[in-house]
Amino acid sequence: MRKPIVAGNWKCHTTTNEATALAQALRQRLDGLEGAEIVVCPPFTGLATVGHVLRGSRIGLGAQDVFWEPRGAFTGEVSAPMLADVGCRYVIIGHSERRTHFGDTDQIVQRKLTAALRHALTPIVCIGETLAEREGNQTFAVLQRQLEGALREVPAADRERVIIAYEPVWAIGTGRNATPDQAQEAHAFIRQWIAKQWGADAGDSLRIQYGGSVTAANAASLLQQPDVDGALVGGASLNADAFSAIVKAALETKTVNR
Ligand code: PEP
Repeated sequence: MRKPIVAGNWKCHTTTNEATALAQALRQRLDGLEGAEIVVCPPFTGLATVGHVLRGSRIGLGAQDVFWEPRGAFTGEVSAPMLADVGCRYVIIGHSERRTHFGDTDQIVQRKLTAALRHALTPIVCIGETLAEREGNQTFAVLQRQLEGALREVPAADRERVIIAYEPVWAIGTGRNATPDQAQEAHAFIRQWIAKQWGADAGDSLRIQYGGSVTAANAASLLQQPDVDGALVGGASLNADAFSAIVKAALETKTVNR
């Protein structure tokens, strides 16, 4: 049985005061809920403060990126042991905004993933096609290339910790989410690919989040799909009511489906 996981990617939003207020509002709404993993990923500057607000709650702390070396002369970077030290248990890797604006290649994603696993962080590895790639019938080829590139050196013992987020680039921040059928088709492809590479049990237990314009209104229809195990939420995660509604949709749909 796969435990649903809903993560909020706050991107480059929130001052420390805003982050504190948002974390407090989420705690009020979500504390005590069981049956789903809940994660928030503030910007680096908010990690310590939000970690403090969430201490003792069921909401986990994640970062939006990680550098692959543990330390050294790498101005501006933040490493996996630094994230673990500040209380992070999760990290987003390979988000399309990192790939598009900051040059994160499949090889860089793979190095970041290795660093995260080495320092006991749970990686949320983002993959997804652009609109041109979808329209050119390249979706599965792109997903396969990104999976191969990112996952090729994951030690067998660490495989069950990897979470994949399917995030079609055309759906991120656009208000145009994938249809439930489109999401299910891509998630099924990812699960089958993992089963082929890592074995049927690994395919069965792999958790795959959908991301791309998830809202309180569309979450249930996406989460009802059998291979959708949760959501990675951008814009709507900045609103405590909307994010809480998405978490509750995950609990309701996945509990009913069990
Ligand atoms: C994201 O940032 O991963 C994301 C899916 O953003 P949004 O929900 O705003 O589309």
